[in-house]
Amino acid sequence: MHIDARTLDTGSLIEGDLCIIGAGAAGISLALQWIGSTRRVILVEGGGFTVEAQMQALYHGESVDRPYFPLQSVALHYFGGTTGHWAGFCSPLDPIDFETRDWVAHSGWPFSRGHLDAYYARAHAILELGPYDYDAASYEKRDPDVRRLPVDGAVFSPKMWQFSTPTRMGTTYRDPIVKAPNVHLYTYANVVEIVANAGGTAIEGLRARTIDGKEHRVQARHYVVACGGIHNARLLLASNSRVARGIGNDRDLVGRYFMDHFELLAGQAVFEKAHPFKLYAYPGRGGKGARAELALAGDLQRTHRILNGTASFQAGALTGQETSRFVSFSADAEVNVKQQEDLAARGAARGPAGAPPPNTVFRLFTRQEQEPNPESRVVLSAEKDAMGMPRANLHWRFTPLDKRSIRAFYELLGREFGRAGLGRVQLMEWLLDGTNDWPDHLSGGWHNMGTTRMHPDPSQGVVDANCKVHGLANLFVAGASVYPTGGAANPTLTLVALALRLSDHLEQVVA
Ligand SMILES: Cc1cc2nc3c(=O)[nH]c(=O)nc-3n(C[C@H](O)[C@H](O)[C@H](O)COP(=O)(O)OP(=O)(O)OC[C@H]3O[C@@H](n4cnc5c(N)ncnc54)[C@H](O)[C@@H]3O)c2cc1C
Repeated sequence: MHIDARTLDTGSLIEGDLCIIGAGAAGISLALQWIGSTRRVILVEGGGFTVEAQMQALYHGESVDRPYFPLQSVALHYFGGTTGHWAGFCSPLDPIDFETRDWVAHSGWPFSRGHLDAYYARAHAILELGPYDYDAASYEKRDPDVRRLPVDGAVFSPKMWQFSTPTRMGTTYRDPIVKAPNVHLYTYANVVEIVANAGGTAIEGLRARTIDGKEHRVQARHYVVACGGIHNARLLLASNSRVARGIGNDRDLVGRYFMDHFELLAGQAVFEKAHPFKLYAYPGRGGKGARAELALAGDLQRTHRILNGTASFQAGALTGQETSRFVSFSADAEVNVKQQEDLAARGAARGPAGAPPPNTVFRLFTRQEQEPNPESRVVLSAEKDAMGMPRANLHWRFTPLDKRSIRAFYELLGREFGRAGLGRVQLMEWLLDGTNDWPDHLSGGWHNMGTTRMHPDPSQGVVDANCKVHGLANLFVAGASVYPTGGAANPTLTLVALALRLSDHLEQVVA
């Protein structure tokens, strides 16, 4: 059932058993599980069914320390949320991502990767992915040209990715949601405050506003905040009329530990001879395809005390501008300039048109997790949006481990390529300068994580292992904001899996 909140009389009371705030990847995944249940589910969405400039403007905010994506375009504010322009890259987190790693500050999930496998399999259906199979051997069996690089599998192995069509959840799931008699979708209903009871122990209602100035009340027995990685924190922080620090923020943790993935060019690989790179090639949009990135084994991450990351291969060499200085890494150590010249002559032997032979030179593209950092955070701005809600500002901040891990990864990759007689890895200047500075081409992945982190101990996390906000009886959080660490995989598959897990938990709770 669909109701446009602008058509209601101001001051209307909207009531249900379970209220989900936000109809994006997490909120829709959750709502779908409740279709046909005897419970009345309220799905409160701030936007309409299409992207609109005045709704996107509500997301405007400043990136205070370093450039980030404009906050009004890093997430979409309408039914379907940011799946309206996501790219569909999916891969599960690795087992090591869930471990407490003594070299990664604030690491450790309250459960293991094995616990999530059944939910990942279910999430595949929602994101219209192929079978839940991330074993490279399965793909190699199907096509002789799909072959892994002949490196030591105990050091580097292919981490598989699958590609959603990409599913636009607002299109694919609009009908099932709108036609479900027990799911009441309210569009143009922006929640501007979550209101706690006088004791601050439970939520007693929501205030929701429309762009034309109406205000409604929402009451349910249980609430789930599913507004995305930045706006989950913003809404909790802005809900401060009764609880001065904001909801769930007794320990000043809401908004902290903001993480994205580091996604940037780090160097190039020059191979002695061609290898069919079909396993590593992006199959393009349209779904059902898969490809691998090269991942460093968990044991080696442990030995070298570095973060989890991958390298993917983009055909072609770095441009002159990108290669102001190189150090090559081979089997033993850094290679001197003379050897580099030999390498250039050998590895990049020119073909008739002056280009290196195909499949011998690849740009190396990094995808790496960010160390959880309490100083990397979403805060409220003094400026308010058109609904009267404080805007979100972002401080995206890094630790020395972040950059050191990327360099160490590629040194190990170069040594392994050298040991295996495959070729060399050459790193870009920014990785070699011995500083913690980052280059202008640093990019995130458009992935907003960590701002309401999960930890069983309320002094270390905003939500517990069931995604319930510590200290509040009936408030839960869905989305990548609950991730304690981000791993080297894009977030949506995992956040959909977690939404399904939360839904199973809520079935016990919303009796
Ligand atoms: C360009 C781009 C490419 C991406 N590519 C990938 C990719 O390849 N793979 C991947 O895994 N991820 C990718 N992502 C990230 C992915 O889109 C997000 O991880 C995912 O959409 C987050 O889901 P969510 O439900 O937490 O938030 P969202 O999808 O952002 O949904 C939040 C919902 O809450 C609503 N809302 C917000 N505030 C309020 C409020 N106060 N009241 C009511 N409703 C509210 C919003 O309108 C929205 O519908 C990409 C993102 C971008 C921007």
